[in-house]
Amino acid sequence: MARGRAREAILDAIRAAEPLSRVEIAGVTGLTEAAVSMTVRRLLDEGLVVETGRAPTAGKPRTLLRLDPSARIAVGVHLDAGTATFVLTGQTGGIISRLARPVSTPATADELAAGVTVLLAGSGVDAARCLGIGLTGAMDGAGTGGGAGTTHGGGDLGDRLRAATGFTVLVENDATAAAAGEYWVARLGPERAFAALHLGSRLGAGIVVGGRVLRGGGFGHVCVRADGPPCGCGSRGCLEAVAGPRTLVALARSDAAAAAEAGLEPGSRSVAAGFAAVARAARAGAPACLALLEESAAHVAAAAESVVNLLDLDLVVLTGPGFAAASFVYGPAIQRRIAPADAKTWHRSVTVTVSSAAATASATGAAAMVLRS
Ligand SMILES: [Zn+2]
Repeated sequence: MARGRAREAILDAIRAAEPLSRVEIAGVTGLTEAAVSMTVRRLLDEGLVVETGRAPTAGKPRTLLRLDPSARIAVGVHLDAGTATFVLTGQTGGIISRLARPVSTPATADELAAGVTVLLAGSGVDAARCLGIGLTGAMDGAGTGGGAGTTHGGGDLGDRLRAATGFTVLVENDATAAAAGEYWVARLGPERAFAALHLGSRLGAGIVVGGRVLRGGGFGHVCVRADGPPCGCGSRGCLEAVAGPRTLVALARSDAAAAAEAGLEPGSRSVAAGFAAVARAARAGAPACLALLEESAAHVAAAAESVVNLLDLDLVVLTGPGFAAASFVYGPAIQRRIAPADAKTWHRSVTVTVSSAAATASATGAAAMVLRS
């Protein structure tokens, strides 16, 4: 294993189950005890890891190690139509401080740089410890513009933000970032493969295998209806076009009962805000909004089943602000959809959970990707 991989594996192992002894780290990572000792010595010198007492054992007592949460920090920025969410994260995954601000659509680098400055100044942490900025979400204001769930010209905005702040800027797809955030925050450990389904102003997914996030936010473009409506990506019948948040909000606006239940007025609210209003109404028992969500959830569940079967996963995590608001419909729908074939054919039990940090997952994940890079 290359030196960088060994460092990362050791930091991940401690993050997932701290405090750990060197012997335990060797067991978890598969590294030799000599390699662990050598790398841990370097991590102690750099202040990333600290010693935290001794474990009682039958033989020689073992020194336990944990991460110093603020030894390295990074900023995560998530953009959605009209709003930027900023989080400051340390290497244990906790949010040190957070901030949400209105921004232009599309957002400018100066607006984001100002937010980063306020976040860092208010955190009380030495900005010199900040390794960089992870930038994710709808860079072109695509919360109102559609598209295939890529980073949408984020490279340009990333370059301008780098110039404005002097920090390294890493631009990442929001679903990929959310998956990284889930791995980071939930302390799942590298042996647990999972799919993080992300619902923001569009649908996406990140797949984590062996502690690595596979690229690709293409979950919204899984075909769920062969002869379905055209999709912004150029194909047709995609999950996004049939059941994505933009489609759902459009259906709610055109349905008088649902529009009244959710308080949707014609015009300018973002997809994310419209979706949140529909979910809020459905949670309060509004039948037309609930029916629209159930219809969307049935298609999302079918696509989720395909992903789980294709990759043989047994954990699905729902994340992003959309699922934070509507997991009470989507979670059970996915579970119901997957359970029969699980029992009859695959002989596994897929767990569907909701991220504990669903609303800020992609901002946290973008920061995590900076800390790991
Ligand atoms: Zn598509």
